[in-house]
Amino acid sequence: MAKYIFITGGVVSSLGKGIAAASVGKLLESKGLKVTLIKCDPYINVDPGTMNPFQHGEVYVTDDGAETDLDLGHYERFTNAKLTKDNNITTGKIYHSVISKERKGQYLGKTVQIIPHITNEIKENIKKASFGKKVDVVIVEIGGTVGDIEGLPFLEAIRQFKLELGKDYAINIHVTLVPYIKSAGETKTKPTQHSVGTLREIGITPDIILCRTEKPLSQEARSKIALFCNMDKEAVITAIDVKSIYEVPGCFQLQGLDKLIVRMLNIKCEDGDLSLWNSQVVKKPKSFSGILPIAVVGKYITLQDAYKSIYEALAHGAIENGIKLAIHKIDSEDIEKSSAAKYLKGIRGVLIPGGFGNRGIEGKIKAVQFARENKIPFFGICLGMQTAVIEFARNVCKLNRAHSTEFSKNTKYPVISLLDEQKAVKVKGASMRLGAYECALRKGSRAHEAYRKVKIFERHRHRYEFNSQYRQIMEKKGLEVSGFNPEGKLVEIVELKDHPWFVACQFHPEFKSKPDKAHPLFVDFIKYSLKEKN
Ligand code: GLN
Repeated sequence: MAKYIFITGGVVSSLGKGIAAASVGKLLESKGLKVTLIKCDPYINVDPGTMNPFQHGEVYVTDDGAETDLDLGHYERFTNAKLTKDNNITTGKIYHSVISKERKGQYLGKTVQIIPHITNEIKENIKKASFGKKVDVVIVEIGGTVGDIEGLPFLEAIRQFKLELGKDYAINIHVTLVPYIKSAGETKTKPTQHSVGTLREIGITPDIILCRTEKPLSQEARSKIALFCNMDKEAVITAIDVKSIYEVPGCFQLQGLDKLIVRMLNIKCEDGDLSLWNSQVVKKPKSFSGILPIAVVGKYITLQDAYKSIYEALAHGAIENGIKLAIHKIDSEDIEKSSAAKYLKGIRGVLIPGGFGNRGIEGKIKAVQFARENKIPFFGICLGMQTAVIEFARNVCKLNRAHSTEFSKNTKYPVISLLDEQKAVKVKGASMRLGAYECALRKGSRAHEAYRKVKIFERHRHRYEFNSQYRQIMEKKGLEVSGFNPEGKLVEIVELKDHPWFVACQFHPEFKSKPDKAHPLFVDFIKYSLKEKN
């Protein structure tokens, strides 16, 4: 039977609970254990797919096509867990299911209540995520901060869960903030005490506390937290700010967190070896000296989380190439208002990520044109691919004002148009072309050179596609279709022949990149950006 680790957060949000959960997963995997991770999000949206990136950050897509919280991206990057729609549970999903059961009369005339019906549904959903997977440990992160009204049913559910499983089967880890007060020259433990107090009021006692701090925690501070929170001092772990998130597992291991967890859960396993990860992903990049300027031209560049997986995948590709990146985050609206040259001069590679909506589109098209004409390596992803096709149609094929029907319904040249399967779709949630699809690569193409195979599977999230009616005319002018979906014959990758490296794909390769296994397209994008001096 699987054992459970519940991770809650206190004091403030954005403490990096997701990284902490992923790091615990990494540590346990290093000890030979099989893990899976679940994110519980207390908001009422059924999934984050309908949310604006400014509200939510990136929407991470799993192989089975679930639109999920970006923490699942951390889980997949740090561990080998294969996540599905079952690994992200929201209040919306829970209520949706309970209310439809109620409508079917499945509660046999009972009054349907938060306790037990909602809490039972949460527990069932938590169990479901590890069904049939032979998992040793399930790590469950509860989103939000202790004290939030919306999080209460989840906390009550995990309280019951631990009680029902019994000793040795579940532990609680609480992540808090221990702020450093400059004027006093001290770290303060009071917010942690209060946060743990709030947890205890609802019947949860943490077994381990991870203290986020900017300064190392003194022995005195640790003793104080241990005393007031009723726990051993060794269970008060410092989670100090680090330069790279990939350092976190090592920091935890140095303090014995892995040993503590397996002891508390009474698991017999290997000692654990993180040395490969630490040397490849943490130490190696510190020795790189050169810096390569890469531009990411998008709409949500002010928000670090909106293109989370893109930035991570770029970092992975950089590690593989032995170089540091200077990522220039450029708002496509700025390019739209002035010129691409103003923002892209001196840049060695241009990446345009995915997106929705009209704003900033013309800026992206200008950025593509600049990269194409100046032979700067270009990487287009999803909307980035669509803008590359529009630019090529307009400026090379002379299809004046060619566009995507997403932005111009009645354009004379709809080079990007709605997928057939989308035409009858009326609802917004979970209705795009989602998840992993097969893609066949053309031998000898840049894509084939990167992947070194002809059959790949990549994850999608889109409603529009390359309009095949224009394939011939574009191919004649030098656009190469190097990847297509064998079933539907959809165009999945386009490239330019007379360009050092110009690759644009309809899917999202960034979701499958890992720090110790960089995605081949990101590796080659950086490799060619390094090679080409403009
Ligand atoms: N808006 C485009 C579409 O729906 C691109 C989507 C994306 O970039 N994820 O097809």
